[in-house]
Amino acid sequence: MIELGVSTAQVGGSNPPVSTIYKGEGMNEAIMRALGFGKDVEKVKAGFCPQCEKPACMEEFKDELSRKEYKIGGMCQACQDKFFE
Ligand SMILES: [Zn+2]
Repeated sequence: MIELGVSTAQVGGSNPPVSTIYKGEGMNEAIMRALGFGKDVEKVKAGFCPQCEKPACMEEFKDELSRKEYKIGGMCQACQDKFFE
């Protein structure tokens, strides 16, 4: 009666890894808006870096710290490098 596992091998395929695009999940939206970053919130939620307005995704980050930073402010790796240098 157990028929699990039938479709798991098909997950992935040629589809882009949509789940790796951060859309502001976990971001402190209320605080961001209160601080006047409402526009940034919209950009981040759309999957874009608020600084350079390029699309950002989890794959481009070099380490966990950068991913953490991305989850806080939505900045892509390139902008983080500039910001923290
Ligand atoms: Zn950027």
